[in-house]
Amino acid sequence: MSEPVYLDYNATTPIDERVLEHMLPFLKNNFGNAASSTHQHGWIAKQAVDDARRQVASLIGAEESEIIFTSGSTEAINLSIKGVYEIYKNKGNHIVTVKTEHKAVLDTCEYLAKKGAEITYLDVDAEGLIDLQQLESCITDKTIVVAVMYANNETGVIQPIEEIAQIVHAKNSIFFCDATQAIGKADVDVLESGIDLLCLSAHKLYGPKGVGALYVRRKNPRVTLSPLIHGGGHEKGLRSGTLNVPGIVALGKACELAKKETWDNNTNISKLRAYLEHQLLDIPGMRINGSTRSRLYNTSNICFSGLPIAIGTAAKLIAEWSRHFSVASGSACTSAIPEPSHVLQAMGLSEADSYASVRFSFGKYNTQEETEQVVKIIKGTLL
Ligand code: PLP
Repeated sequence: MSEPVYLDYNATTPIDERVLEHMLPFLKNNFGNAASSTHQHGWIAKQAVDDARRQVASLIGAEESEIIFTSGSTEAINLSIKGVYEIYKNKGNHIVTVKTEHKAVLDTCEYLAKKGAEITYLDVDAEGLIDLQQLESCITDKTIVVAVMYANNETGVIQPIEEIAQIVHAKNSIFFCDATQAIGKADVDVLESGIDLLCLSAHKLYGPKGVGALYVRRKNPRVTLSPLIHGGGHEKGLRSGTLNVPGIVALGKACELAKKETWDNNTNISKLRAYLEHQLLDIPGMRINGSTRSRLYNTSNICFSGLPIAIGTAAKLIAEWSRHFSVASGSACTSAIPEPSHVLQAMGLSEADSYASVRFSFGKYNTQEETEQVVKIIKGTLL
């Protein structure tokens, strides 16, 4: 039996062969500790980490000194929001975020709420976009951070990042942006867009799992954070612990490739997505969830709303399709009983429509032939 077609690139990406090749020596001969300053093994590791820091910074328009390596976006999100909360206590305890953020942001906010933080959860409209007026009016002189993601992992919807940054800065607050899904797909530049804190993760851009980075702005304004992890003072004291040199080197390479190749990938991938959506329009009641004007080029969240769908039917279809292709459901299957997606519900979808939604996310290894196969199977099941 042939391998199922992979259409779940927003969950994770396969590692690029060139990234793997670049990383392997650091799992073998170049095993040194980047903090060992007395010998060549350490110097080689340190040089490789410095190079990777430059590659990550260069992809997002930052300075090398503004990059902190982490275990991924979840850690970077925790470090940002908890780190700001701890340091800016004297200013206030108010945090603003959005109902459609990733659970890493929402759960961190919920945790801080139990510690005394006041959280405002912004609504989104039917397209998944926030209302800038609502944002502006809820920021007070007690607002220490505003956390809005660049692009949503379920729908691909891209928020108006520059406008958000302007509003946040005009009110003297800090803008944290979860760019996990946008990096390598959208042209993200922290200076141009006015982002103060940004997280990214290697496994969403053809690197390995378990490594990521946090950008921390050093000037205009300088952002200060309190660390989550103490001991050793690595990463300017913000993230202690022996550096994951192979992972960091791989992240650097993945960023270098993303910078060079994003445009080529975009055009091919957006054609595949357009083909899929166009073909599936024949299915009665098929609808795209989220803005089609402001969306990542690889993501398609489709509601098969015309079908007589009972709760869980999309999940059953996905299970049936999984022999042929891999996609994600519009429900969070983190618990035994699948819950309807909090993202789709915030956009106003009914519970039944959330359960009838499927996320297709394409990547650079997908082909037209694969997409045609997938369309054929879906139509065979649903028409
Ligand atoms: N934020 C978004 C938008 C994501 O899509 C993910 C991963 O799915 C994360 C955060 C968490 O990233 P990581 O797996 O690196 O912890």
